[in-house]
Amino acid sequence: MRPQREILAEVLEALRGFEGELRRHKWFPSTPESPEWWAGYRDPFHIAVTAVLVRMNRWEQAERAMEELLRRGLGSPEALARASEEEIEEALRGVTLRKLKVKHLKLVAEAFSGGGGLEERVARAPIGRETRDSILLFALNKPVFPFSRQARRVLSRYGAKLGRGAKEEIERALGGDLYRLKLLHASLTVIAREYCKPSKPRCGLCPLSRGCARLT
Ligand code: SF4
Repeated sequence: MRPQREILAEVLEALRGFEGELRRHKWFPSTPESPEWWAGYRDPFHIAVTAVLVRMNRWEQAERAMEELLRRGLGSPEALARASEEEIEEALRGVTLRKLKVKHLKLVAEAFSGGGGLEERVARAPIGRETRDSILLFALNKPVFPFSRQARRVLSRYGAKLGRGAKEEIERALGGDLYRLKLLHASLTVIAREYCKPSKPRCGLCPLSRGCARLT
């Protein structure tokens, strides 16, 4: 079994030139600290809100709900923290798990409206590990890797050994490099959706096909 670091380096090498496809899926590679990676948003709070909404939903649903929150004047942490649960729920029409999302949005709004110590408050919020890590990485520029089911599927098929502590191993291997952490998460999300599907992966079109263990 090859070391994780080597596999990740190979995957990132294979992703050279993948930025165009990322843009088509609303990921916008930019400078390491830019918030625009996440669908072009400039406000870290909007990244956090849509990170909550997109879990178990399609991006289009999350984006539509974000627009509706903005239309209702609920686009700031203070306004969302003050709003009633009914009002927020009304804005999330069409979103799966609405009641849970309302609770999580309230927690995120409270975390963002609390002044200093934002990172610690987000890290402690009971909103699910992947959502929390997405907010930490894309909204707050903390070097963590949101280890999603999709990332696990692609990397394990590619040949990585993903036992306990795999997320921390990936973070160590990427050495706190925000650009590579963001690029890897965004790319694996797109590859999982477009090529490395749960059944019938489209390996012939996949940018990782050259080194993928499934094909050797
Ligand atoms: S080559 Fe196939 S199995 Fe390997 S990562 Fe791509 S889609 Fe998945």
